[in-house]
Amino acid sequence: MSQPFIQFQNLNKIYGQGNTQFHALHDVNLSINQGDFVAIMGPSGSGKSTTMNILGCLDVPTSGAYIFDGVHVENLSRDQRALLRRHYLGFVFQGFNLLARTSAQENVELPLLYRGMGAEERHTEAKKALALVGLAGWEKNTPAELSGGQQQRVAIARAIVTHPTVLLADEPTGNLDTARSKEIMELLVQLNQERNITVLMVTHEPDMAEYAKRTIHFIDGQVGEDITFQKDKGN
Ligand code: ADP
Repeated sequence: MSQPFIQFQNLNKIYGQGNTQFHALHDVNLSINQGDFVAIMGPSGSGKSTTMNILGCLDVPTSGAYIFDGVHVENLSRDQRALLRRHYLGFVFQGFNLLARTSAQENVELPLLYRGMGAEERHTEAKKALALVGLAGWEKNTPAELSGGQQQRVAIARAIVTHPTVLLADEPTGNLDTARSKEIMELLVQLNQERNITVLMVTHEPDMAEYAKRTIHFIDGQVGEDITFQKDKGN
């Protein structure tokens, strides 16, 4: 049997010290396979962001293990975690987080620039990523010239241009209307199915969670319901 791709083992996260200590995650055990599409749900304060920060290697557990593709992330240095992030993870946020006054093309090229890729290859890869998210022809437009849905597509192109194995999405449809939200979810499903990208998404919206293959509900820093949908995703 192969190991799960992502594992939390008896993972705890405690913020602060002494009287102000807050136990945000309690002995969390979690296994996620490669190619899964997980919606992380739960009320405000239940530990979703803490979980995403740890999954995204932006924070480390106080105790317990976070194993990513066989690597114990909790034992890595800050620089090693940054490398892991840059090579294996892509991030999409509710607020798009694009650079203003910077074209879609340049926004998507940014992670490649950080990797030291040459200009020509960067242009080609960014163009391909933009085409993949349905934005061929919009390369020169700045965020202000794009709709919210299009801006989120640029953000997704930026997240996948490095060919990550995992895409972490924090309320990716939180700023979009229903029609645009569905389009973004369909795009995430497509990336999950066609490119086998593991998608880990926080959402408050049950309608959006339905696009996932599995929902994990957090409650008071623990995993409550963990449901894998049996249905064939026909979305
Ligand atoms: P969610 O994303 O589900 O709303 P969080 O993971 O952000 O929940 O927070 C879980 C709990 O941990 C909350 O009660 C929150 O107040 C607390 N918390 C989060 N970050 C910090 C921090 N940096 N310092 C102290 N407490 C924090």
